[in-house]
Amino acid sequence: MKPYPINRVSIVIPVYNEEESLPELLRRTTTACDSLGRDYEIILIDDGSRDRSADLLLEAAEAPGSRVVAVILNRNYGQHAAIMAGFEECRGDLIITLDADLQNPPEEIPRLVEQAALGYDVVGSVRQKRQDSALRRWPSKLINLAVQRSTGVAMSDYGCMLRAYRASIVKAMLACRERSTFIPILANSFARHTTEILVGHAEREHGESKYDFMRLINLMFDLVTCMTTTPLRLLSLVGGAMAVAGFCFALLLLTLRLMFGAAWAGHGVFVLFAVLFTFTGVQLVGMGLLGEYLGRMYNDVRARPRFFIERIVRTRSALENRPAVSPAPLESIQP
Ligand code: UDP
Ligand code: MG
Repeated sequence: MKPYPINRVSIVIPVYNEEESLPELLRRTTTACDSLGRDYEIILIDDGSRDRSADLLLEAAEAPGSRVVAVILNRNYGQHAAIMAGFEECRGDLIITLDADLQNPPEEIPRLVEQAALGYDVVGSVRQKRQDSALRRWPSKLINLAVQRSTGVAMSDYGCMLRAYRASIVKAMLACRERSTFIPILANSFARHTTEILVGHAEREHGESKYDFMRLINLMFDLVTCMTTTPLRLLSLVGGAMAVAGFCFALLLLTLRLMFGAAWAGHGVFVLFAVLFTFTGVQLVGMGLLGEYLGRMYNDVRARPRFFIERIVRTRSALENRPAVSPAPLESIQP
């Protein structure tokens, strides 16, 4: 891992009805960034707020010498879409995301920068003593565990948005054309070296969480579909197992029927079960097959980059020895 030179840091903060938190957020973020000793910009995205947030952002951005960039969206698109909109405007070598409600202390920014400068592509953070209700914490723990197992990337708190990404990773994320996405997971799919730091977590002081039950469910689906199409495949697996079990059951019934006579077999009642299981299983396999096509189509439609080149190293001599890619001679392509 090579140290990563960071000249400019971009901070990206999505804002949705946070007028009470904004003044303190701006003050604390600016102080934290001033202590970096590097150039920086603070990009705030107003995600269709219905309070005065957008006006406050514009005011902050228009102040002389301001480092604030205000991005105003016409309506509410959701946290992750808003962050993506902010990514489009980033000019920094390192991009840090943060929540506007001050649950993530901006004072942790220098520590994230320090880790990223060591050469990590993505620096995550784990909320120490998370200050949310148990109803939020437990499902989140389960999901984090599932994500860890399915991606194999040992990150333990995907819900915490205080994170740092290298500019190249953000560029790769912007190249993904899908509409709903879950940024921390998407970023990890392009990262090689990742690390995590422990950060503090504060209770929400102003307003309330913007995630009600339905939005949380929606977020969970975004997370799962962003990561994998395995659930579609599960249909085939479950169906296949069911069909095989049904078939074995039928064979068993047949043998026992031959051994013990028609009265034992309840005159065929159980055979109905065996037939039912087998056919339901076969149907599920069929649906799973449809799912496989759907999954492939989904992958093509969202058109993520097929690969992500971290860097290319080529010496001058390699360049000279490389066969020139010239069009084939005319004779050889004529029939
Ligand atoms: N947010 C947003 N658009 C939304 C919902 C939330 O930009 O539709 C922002 C919100 O202003 C905050 C961050 O996303 O800066 C996290 O939201 P919140 O604190 O409500 O989530 P929680 O901490 O409850 O997970
Ligand atoms: Mg919050």
